[in-house]
Amino acid sequence: MKIALYVVLGLIGLLLLLILIAVIRTLLTKPKISAWQPKADPEREKLYAEKLSKMVQVETVSYKGQIQREKFLGFHKVLAELFPLVHHKLEKTEIDGSLLYRWPGKKSDKPIVLMAHQDVVPAEGEWTHGHFSGDIEGGKVWGRGSADDKSPLMAIFQSIEELLADGFVPEQDVYISSSNTEEIGGEGCPKLVEEMKRRGVKPFLANDEGGTIVTEPMAGIPGNFAMVGILEKGQGNLLIKAKSNGGHSSYPPKNSPIARLSKFVCDIEKHYPMKSEFSPQLRTMLSTLSAYGPFHYRLLFGNLWLFKPLLTKLLPVLSPQAGALMRTTIAPTMQSGSDGCNVLPQEATLNLNLRYIPHQDMEESNEIIRRLAAKYDLEVQIQDAYSACEPIDTESDAFKLVEETVREIFPGLPIVPYIMTGGTDARYFEEICPACIRFAPVIYGPEQMKGMHGLNENMETVSLPGAVDYYKALIRKNR
Ligand SMILES: [Zn+2]
Repeated sequence: MKIALYVVLGLIGLLLLLILIAVIRTLLTKPKISAWQPKADPEREKLYAEKLSKMVQVETVSYKGQIQREKFLGFHKVLAELFPLVHHKLEKTEIDGSLLYRWPGKKSDKPIVLMAHQDVVPAEGEWTHGHFSGDIEGGKVWGRGSADDKSPLMAIFQSIEELLADGFVPEQDVYISSSNTEEIGGEGCPKLVEEMKRRGVKPFLANDEGGTIVTEPMAGIPGNFAMVGILEKGQGNLLIKAKSNGGHSSYPPKNSPIARLSKFVCDIEKHYPMKSEFSPQLRTMLSTLSAYGPFHYRLLFGNLWLFKPLLTKLLPVLSPQAGALMRTTIAPTMQSGSDGCNVLPQEATLNLNLRYIPHQDMEESNEIIRRLAAKYDLEVQIQDAYSACEPIDTESDAFKLVEETVREIFPGLPIVPYIMTGGTDARYFEEICPACIRFAPVIYGPEQMKGMHGLNENMETVSLPGAVDYYKALIRKNR
């Protein structure tokens, strides 16, 4: 009895000692400060804002199941007017409204692909400026697409336009890949990748949207940060079906389809079936970010050797955003029952939207759902699904090229490898490119975050010159 007590006391003492070490370590390190701020450049801002405005004014909403080639050809006309040299000098291929350009370099063995999509999501509700006004007011360009994703698209074209005007010839081939179906997960980008495959092109780097320069990426961590996407979660839609013989609602049996589906969903909420893990990528992301944060962040995330087990348990409970970075998420999104208010359904369905994490990827996660569904006599039909991407090696030459470019153009801006929970076109390039890096070099403050797929989308004009310079430097540096 006494020995057990000593063991417990000893363990508590050891734990307190470790915590003390962590506290002292944290007190001894000064918090870092992210000092980079964009510099105003009125002349260039005006030129770029006007080009972006014209691009926003063309409505390019994509809808599932529609190709709408004509609409996008109209957008291409505007691009040709805004960027005449690009359209004069580069080889252009158009496939159902998606665009691929090749700028031949002195060599072709290390090509890069600059990516930004043309299409936007629908704009609804009351906005302070028209949905597609392209108004330039208060230092911002307003309208759907101004941030996602026409500002990077403008910056990519403009960077090449300026390099061409200077008579620059790139060392390596440069491609622009711009699909018109990104927002609907359509066939645009896959077709462009097919075309690249047909030509035997193996890009060294594909630089797509994803992370951006984010202001205060976590509450309490001030300043700007280059959030460079190195991992994209997979995604799947699983249709869960419950069947019965139907019947009249005046004498309902137990375990009707809706009851079984409900129990199943409650089970998922109560005993979350997916495993949380602190991946090396998440570790890097949080420890890099927390160095710029208040004491408690630095203590917890700066001493993961001690706090990892606790945080692995606690974070998913405290924050859905943190949970999404640590495990496969399961979101029930759509449901159906019978057509009559007094009819028991012969079949009720539920859609689960899953976002797969590499440590428990598509197959394993789907299998977990299948096993759980069987417990409630439910069938599972996989509608569409794709795996999480292979994480980008932050020691790779491609990542270092992006890192050096950020350092040159945005001096003092911290670089944070970042895990993406949403999808991008870049995943289609994985097949032919080992480094699909997701980073759009524009600034997303709280307003831009809210506007993306939401109301009052806008982009600050002060962020445009840096974006153009980023792509110019990336092209120049790829040798
Ligand atoms: Zn986008």
